[in-house]
Amino acid sequence: MLNRRELLKKISAIPLAGGITVAEISAPSAAPDWAKELGIRTFINAAGTYTSMTGSLMPDEVVQAIQAASKEFMILDDVQTKVGERIAAITHAEAAVVTAGCFSALTLGLAGVLTGTDQAKVEALPHLAGTGMKSEVIMQKGHSIGYSHALTNTGCKIVYIETAEELEKAISPNTALMWFLHIQSDKGKINHQDWVSVARKHGIPTMIDIAADVPPVENLWRFNDMGFDLVCVSGGKAMRGPQSAGILMGKKHFIEAARLSMPPRGSTIGRGMKVNKEEIIGMYVALDRFVRLDQKKEWDIWEQRTALIENAAKSVSGVSTTVTRPELGNHTPTLKITWDTEKIDISSKSFLENLRNGSPSIEVMSAGPNGISVTTWMLKTGQEKIVAGRIKDVLKGALK
Ligand SMILES: *Cc1c(COP(=O)(O)O)cnc(C)c1O
Repeated sequence: MLNRRELLKKISAIPLAGGITVAEISAPSAAPDWAKELGIRTFINAAGTYTSMTGSLMPDEVVQAIQAASKEFMILDDVQTKVGERIAAITHAEAAVVTAGCFSALTLGLAGVLTGTDQAKVEALPHLAGTGMKSEVIMQKGHSIGYSHALTNTGCKIVYIETAEELEKAISPNTALMWFLHIQSDKGKINHQDWVSVARKHGIPTMIDIAADVPPVENLWRFNDMGFDLVCVSGGKAMRGPQSAGILMGKKHFIEAARLSMPPRGSTIGRGMKVNKEEIIGMYVALDRFVRLDQKKEWDIWEQRTALIENAAKSVSGVSTTVTRPELGNHTPTLKITWDTEKIDISSKSFLENLRNGSPSIEVMSAGPNGISVTTWMLKTGQEKIVAGRIKDVLKGALK
């Protein structure tokens, strides 16, 4: 097969005057392997859905939808409106919009809460002083993670509280939003329902971040049903939509307001958070596929793969394994392999490098100085055998 450079060389060598036009020369039957051409390492992902590892792989039906969408012009707002209606129907929300990942759903959702449909306010963000906009977001200390930048990007500051009493005291005329983080809900003292009811009592909007919390699939509607005004989720994690997409869903007036800060509109804080028709439609198709998936079958496949890798590792003396199934976030069998350094002489860092530098390259996560962590949900069929074999080989090779 010709690579692109060779093909171009060949094309330019053909005399065009002879009647053949460039358009008539057929392209190579298979698409060029751009990763290879560009010298980019590809690998088996036994780590998980990490942005640094490009998230997840889109199923064929998503890629086909993206390809079809790429061949026609559409009015961007039309695409968002029509797709939003479908997403809202699936998720029990009043309205929805596709954003550039969960992070921008957080920013844009809060922008909508702050501005309403007041165009002057939309254009004033992130400068709140003197505009009449509120300026504080309340969150529990245990819910604080790096992603709160998504909220402070609007100009708001975060007010941290721990107890129900502190929450009541923190609520003021400046409170714009009460924010909740599902993945760390066990690290806060106030649960989902109480958060929503305190907010209701004071007439304050609520938002929940469920970025990495599907599966279970029910989480896609659970928090809309519970009464959160806005729900933000990643599209390119387990749902396997475009990695640069997410969903903001919830109350209609907030979604409408949030869209005023989104492309195609300029003079907004969200102009750089663009998603085009390909990602919007791709996101919908991924969501629709995900809710129709046989979730039990998927889970069984992950369990079987995990058991295969676990058994291979365990067969080496000095190795211990555990499988956990996190209830909050990244809900998938998670295998931890640790080894007795008296018997097996390798650090996790060298272990990771060994897997990474082998062929094919494999990524897993480090778990302490003498352990690794493996998930199987991002594997392609059959890759579990390669992962199991290589992990066993590395362990055996390090036996003292
Ligand atoms: C991944 C993640 C985000 C960011 O989501 P993107 O879709 O990558 O923008 C936000 N919050 C939490 C808890 C996450 O896990």
